[in-house]
Amino acid sequence: MFWEKYDYHHLKHAVLEGLSNNANYSTQNILGLPATYLDEEIFYDDAPFLKDAPFLSTFIANPNHIGCHTFGDKHEEVFKGTQEIEKDLIRICAEEIFGGGQGQQDGYVASGGTEANIEALWIYRNYFMREYGAALNQIAVVFSEDTHYSVPKGINLLQIQGIILKVDENKRSILENDLETKIPEACKQGVRYFIIVQNLSTTMFGSVDDIMRITEFFSLHHLNFKLHVDAAFGGFIYPFTNPDSPYTFRNRHISSIAIDGHKMLQAPYGTGVFLVRKNLMPYVCTDEARYIPGKDYTLCGSRSGANAVCVWMILRMHGSTGWSVKMHRLLDKTLYICNELYSAGIEFYRNRFVNIIAIKSKYVSPVLAKKYFLVADAYDRDPKWYKIVVMPHVKQGVIDRFLHDIRNEVMHRSV
Ligand SMILES: *Cc1c(COP(=O)(O)O)cnc(C)c1O
Repeated sequence: MFWEKYDYHHLKHAVLEGLSNNANYSTQNILGLPATYLDEEIFYDDAPFLKDAPFLSTFIANPNHIGCHTFGDKHEEVFKGTQEIEKDLIRICAEEIFGGGQGQQDGYVASGGTEANIEALWIYRNYFMREYGAALNQIAVVFSEDTHYSVPKGINLLQIQGIILKVDENKRSILENDLETKIPEACKQGVRYFIIVQNLSTTMFGSVDDIMRITEFFSLHHLNFKLHVDAAFGGFIYPFTNPDSPYTFRNRHISSIAIDGHKMLQAPYGTGVFLVRKNLMPYVCTDEARYIPGKDYTLCGSRSGANAVCVWMILRMHGSTGWSVKMHRLLDKTLYICNELYSAGIEFYRNRFVNIIAIKSKYVSPVLAKKYFLVADAYDRDPKWYKIVVMPHVKQGVIDRFLHDIRNEVMHRSV
């Protein structure tokens, strides 16, 4: 895994050059596009700092990255400069972070993990329908009960069914017997095609599904499946903290991965990254997108080129080495909290490569949860867990105060 670190001068130059290769609403004769730069009263483009602010310059120039730019030869020429930057971003994520073969993946910057997950389900649903003549009721999406709600949202939209697998209360891993009962049951009901979603860190627990186990099960039973990885939360940390991660494109069962730039990477909202093996995007081609030279393969349509530029800038600013150091720091802090909780006899769940700690609710009073903005596993019933997410703003002082408070509470209460 390697991508070069650029200094700010280099970055600025690369982005401004990308912009200069886009068509320019200010200086060129652009008559046909239903788009323009941002409102010039609010976003005046002669602000003196802009020449040193590549992201803001891109934001104001307002390039549209509609469609998918990693394949095909017909492309919207208008914004090709910044679309090249997006292609480098997709390459870094697919090949360097997730070990994909050179030029073997497509992708785009989606609105977020939700869109990227739905895009994947949409591709595989259409794949089974087109390649096997599958009927809607023969296709099912398999996922654990800890899976993000964007997956149920997607299956609702796509009119396919879900098979929700129960997890062990303490280990948060899929229960063997639930898998071994529900899948044969679904087969008996006529399901022939499976879309498996595996979590490279769930939102609530930071738990990571045992992908080897589930793919072995489906292979052993000769079941037809496609597999998508929801790495919306863990995608920018786990590959750096676990060098033996089975979650790479070298794992032939993995067809696509969703990663959120707007979580761990500290990019602005609207920066989900969707990665998929070659020759799968065409299953969601909208041929009716006649006015787009390269057609549209995405769920969202128009999207901001500035978002793609921003994610690229963050990754390039750190380089692979810098990013890895930053993620290990988060992990060290997480480990420190875990050790302290452990010695205080407080029960919690944690995956050792992820910066989330879920504490059993009996150790956390509502006052403490409120004081530290802890997030509960449920708000429509009594919570069983409260989680801490050790993000870059979580400083040692706050950690110490929290540990002091929770120890105090536990000491003065018999739990
Ligand atoms: C945040 C998250 C999502 C949804 O992402 P949005 O960016 O909010 O659409 C999906 N899956 C997981 C695991 C997440 O953590």
